Amino acid sequence: MHDRTGDEIDEQPVEHDPRCEDGWIDRDGDTPQPCLTCKPHLRQKFERRHHG
Ligand SMILES: [Zn+2]
Repeated sequence: MHDRTGDEIDEQPVEHDPRCEDGWIDRDGDTPQPCLTCKPHLRQKFERRHHG
């Protein structure tokens, strides 16, 4: 990506879980979790669990 001056802009680094597989972490484990980097829309859904 470039801004008006032509300088290159670094996009914000995204911390991507190396265990991510097809959007899921520990997919074949007992407690698979969605990779929120691949599926950010699932974040709210999963965080709400902690509040009952
Ligand atoms: Zn991912």
